[in-house]
Amino acid sequence: MDSPLLGGNPVAPSRDLFHSSQSDGQIHKFPTFQEIRVLDSELWGAPECPPHVRDLRDRVTRFVAERVVPHEADLDAGGATALLHRLRQEAVAQELWGLPLPPDLGGAGLSLADYAHVAEAEGASDHAPAVLGSTALLDVNVLGEHAGHLRRVARGELTLCNAMTEPDTPGSDPALITTRAHPQADGSWSLHGRKWFVAGADRADLALVLARAPGGPSAFLVPTDAPGFHLVRELPILGAGGQWELSLAGAPGQLVGAEGKGLRVVGQRVRLGRLLRCLRWLGQARRAFLLMRERAMRRSLSTGRLADHQLVQALVFDALLAIRTTRPLVFQVAHLLDAGRDARDDTALAKVAAARMLQQVSDAAIQVYGAAGLGPDTPLPALFRTGRMARLLDGPDELHITTVARRVLA
Ligand SMILES: Cc1cc2nc3c(=O)[nH]c(=O)nc-3n(C[C@H](O)[C@H](O)[C@H](O)COP(=O)(O)OP(=O)(O)OC[C@H]3O[C@@H](n4cnc5c(N)ncnc54)[C@H](O)[C@@H]3O)c2cc1C
Repeated sequence: MDSPLLGGNPVAPSRDLFHSSQSDGQIHKFPTFQEIRVLDSELWGAPECPPHVRDLRDRVTRFVAERVVPHEADLDAGGATALLHRLRQEAVAQELWGLPLPPDLGGAGLSLADYAHVAEAEGASDHAPAVLGSTALLDVNVLGEHAGHLRRVARGELTLCNAMTEPDTPGSDPALITTRAHPQADGSWSLHGRKWFVAGADRADLALVLARAPGGPSAFLVPTDAPGFHLVRELPILGAGGQWELSLAGAPGQLVGAEGKGLRVVGQRVRLGRLLRCLRWLGQARRAFLLMRERAMRRSLSTGRLADHQLVQALVFDALLAIRTTRPLVFQVAHLLDAGRDARDDTALAKVAAARMLQQVSDAAIQVYGAAGLGPDTPLPALFRTGRMARLLDGPDELHITTVARRVLA
């Protein structure tokens, strides 16, 4: 059985509590757009970006390298609303806004298979999906079938967080949730319970909450400014904020979909979310790889460049192997979802591979950088942290492994 319901919210990049200003631009030199473009065509293997998407992918790559990466420290620090707004306006002006969204919502209507190449490029910066408006895709998908608010979500004016995981029940088995939803005389619902590790709950306008109604687990939209919705505390993960514990004490909920069908509603969102996240992890791993490559070629011991030492070469080889073997798995999921086919096993395989890959590649890059790789002047600690978190969020590795293995062995 698929276990779809494992939270996580790519809408909300980590707010890095330890990020310093990158004072020494020499240490953390993200490759220029031109360098990335050359390396893109040489390094990453199949699948290649199809010709009709190449220009768009290159424009996104350039925008991320030149307009988003230089502002990362400010965006990490949080509260940079004006900056985010300005960058979003630039993305709109360059016709790079909301590329995977349907045209009637102001998007470019890319298929998932085409958007996959763009998403990989966006992934180079944790902030790029929010700047480029593609984070709305998940919410548009859920709301598109079940409720209103669509246009405001697509314009980036309304954001959702996803509240499923609870302190006292295993998130790997969401059917066990204990948050309750009680029907009210006027047709509304009253929600009671506790959720945690809800990404972006402090900034979201609405929470998609999974709660147990009399008819079974159901999905509800709850306004985050409603009475009864309380942020209890922030839960930093390895130094990064952005996840919250919250309590629901009679918070009003609007049913999304049918009562008792909540696992299906949030499952749809999570399945697409896993693909989008895997694509962005590929982009992040490529960034770590390029930093490692540059460091290995620039830094020398008395015995020669790091790049000339076989143990460094082995790290580089293994990292490239991880990226190249993961890419086809992830892109295959995009093709299957476009074709409306069952992609449960493929998604599980891709998710486990992509999480391991990001952890491995960022770890290798840190090793080649030496202490500077753990310090505040490169994005490597943040990339490594994402790789570590990746093995838990959206379902721990073990869940995906056992799910696929059981099906194969049945
Ligand atoms: C950065 C981050 C962001 C997150 N964002 C959100 C969010 O926005 N909304 C939200 O609702 N949740 C979010 N989560 C929570 C996440 O979805 C859960 O942590 C995840 O689903 C696992 O649930 P759990 O933590 O309760 O672990 P548990 O379910 O208790 O699992 C603990 C461990 O048990 C083992 N295990 C579990 N299942 C199996 C199995 N089938 N076979 C063998 N071993 C198994 C694994 O080792 C697993 O790591 C986030 C988590 C992180 C780290």
